[in-house]
Amino acid sequence: MLQIDHTLCNLCGLCRKSCPFGAIAAGKETVAVDERCTLCGACVNVCPQSALSIERRQASPEELARFKGVFVWAECEEKNGRLLPRRVVHELLTHGRRLADRLAQPLAAVVLGDEHMGGLEHLCHQGADRVIRCRHALLGAYSTDGFTTALAAVVAKEKPSVLLFGATPNGRDLAPRVAARLRLGLTADCTGLAVDELGQLVQTRPAFGGNIMASIVTPYTRPQCATVRPNVFAAAEPDLARPVVIEDFPVALSKASIRTKVVEAIPAAESGEKIEEARILVAAGRGCGEPSHLDLVRSLALRLGGAVAGSRAIVELGWVPHTVQVGQSGTTVGPDLYVAVGISGAIQHIVGMSSSKKIVAINKDPDAPIFKIADLGVVGDAMAILPKLLDAIQP
Ligand SMILES: Cc1cc2nc3c(=O)[nH]c(=O)nc-3n(C[C@H](O)[C@H](O)[C@H](O)COP(=O)(O)OP(=O)(O)OC[C@H]3O[C@@H](n4cnc5c(N)ncnc54)[C@H](O)[C@@H]3O)c2cc1C
Repeated sequence: MLQIDHTLCNLCGLCRKSCPFGAIAAGKETVAVDERCTLCGACVNVCPQSALSIERRQASPEELARFKGVFVWAECEEKNGRLLPRRVVHELLTHGRRLADRLAQPLAAVVLGDEHMGGLEHLCHQGADRVIRCRHALLGAYSTDGFTTALAAVVAKEKPSVLLFGATPNGRDLAPRVAARLRLGLTADCTGLAVDELGQLVQTRPAFGGNIMASIVTPYTRPQCATVRPNVFAAAEPDLARPVVIEDFPVALSKASIRTKVVEAIPAAESGEKIEEARILVAAGRGCGEPSHLDLVRSLALRLGGAVAGSRAIVELGWVPHTVQVGQSGTTVGPDLYVAVGISGAIQHIVGMSSSKKIVAINKDPDAPIFKIADLGVVGDAMAILPKLLDAIQP
C-alpha cells in the first residue's frame, strides 16, 4: 500500500499532479490517497521530500493467477512525420501470440505516443487481440519519465502476466525503469521465451560470458518482464482478416514529472546499410588473416547485394567498427543469407546469428563449431575460395 509520511510532506502537490489515476488529494493541510490508487509508483518518483513509499508484500499463487494476458510494448519510430511500430514489435507479437495461445490468455499491444501515431491496425493483423493506446502530447517524443509513468499505469491497471519489450536503445531504457517502478524482475536480451507446465514464462539467455544458456523464471511477481533483441524471432505474415480492436487508455501526465526534454535531434552519420536490416550478410572472422583480405569479403557482399559484418575478434583487432559486430555483445541479425568467412562459431557469435534463414560457412578447420549450424559448409582456405565464388557469381 502507499505510505505517506506526513512529517516529511511539505504539501507541494506534485504527487497529485503526477498521479495518472487522480487518486491523490493534496489539500492545504494534508495529502490523502483513495481506492483508485494502483500502486504504479508515479507519485513516489516525483516526491522531492521522499515522503511517499510503497509497501509491497510477496503475492500468493492465487494473487499471481489474477494477472492475465501477454502484453507487448509497441515501440514506434518516426517515418515521414508519422509514428509507426518498429519491426521488432511485429516479431514480438508473432511470438507473443504463441505464448498467449499456450497460456490461453489474450495478447495486447501497448502503444504510447501522440496524435501522430499510425499503422496500429497492423498490430492486430500481427496477432494482437487488442491495442491499448495511450495518447498524450507529452508522449510524442520518447522520455524515460513520461513513458515509464504511462506504461506503469497501464500495467498496474490491466495486470498482464507477461510484459515484453524489444531490446532497442529505448526498450533497454524503459524496461528496467518500469520493472523497478513496479518492483518486478526483468530478464534482458532473451534469446528464447517459452511457457512451462506451471504456466510460468521461461526466459532463456546467455549467462556467464555466454558459456551457458540460463533458463530464468519469475515465480513471485507479475508481470514477468523480458526484453528480446530485434531479429531473435521471425515476424509471421500478417493476417489481414483478424479484427482490429483499439482501446484508448487515458493517462494524466504533467510536465513537472518529466525531467528531460529533447533539445535537438541529430541524425546518426550515414554508415551504409545497418546489419540488423540487411537481408544478406557476409561476415568476416579472424580466419581472414589480415585487414587487406577483407576486400574480398566486401566484394562478395557487393556482388550479392548485401552488407559486411564481423566477429568480435576482428572488431577488437580494429579491422571493422563495432557497429558491424554480430553476437552477444554486438548486434543480433536474422538475414535470409549469412556467409561466415573464417569464423570459428563461438557461442557468443552464434547467439547473434543463428536465426539466419540460410547459413554458409567457409573455414579451413573441418571441426569448427560453425559447421554444426551451417546449412552449407565449405572446408578450405577462405582466401582461395572467395575469388572462385566471385567468379562463379555473375555481377
Ligand atoms: C562476454 C563475451 C562476449 C562476446 N561477444 C562476442 C560477440 O558479440 N561476437 C563475437 O563474434 N564474439 C564474441 N565474443 C568472442 C568469442 O568468444 C570468440 O572469441 C570470437 O567470436 C572469435 O572470433 P573469430 O571466430 O573471428 O576468431 P577465431 O575464434 O580465432 O576463429 C577463426 C576461425 O577461422 C578459421 N580460419 C583460420 N584461417 C582460415 C583460412 N585461411 N580460411 C578459412 N578459415 C580460416 C579457423 O579455423 C577458426 O575457426 C565474446 C566473448 C565473451 C567472453
